[in-house]
Amino acid sequence: MGKCVNHPDRDTPFICMKHEVYMCGECLKCRDPEIYCKFRSACPIWFIHKQKKREEKAG
Ligand SMILES: [Zn+2]
Repeated sequence: MGKCVNHPDRDTPFICMKHEVYMCGECLKCRDPEIYCKFRSACPIWFIHKQKKREEKAG
């Protein structure tokens, strides 16, 4: 667990392994979606980021 990079008062289990920053549920977003990331295949942030995008398109 760590503190969200944008919300220092919030604890979150989600960490960007590439940038080594934590992100809370509200902030979950890949910082460099366009470029290669070796952590991506195991990245929960990327997974949720993709899911959110799909929902935006649908709704
Ligand atoms: Zn946050």
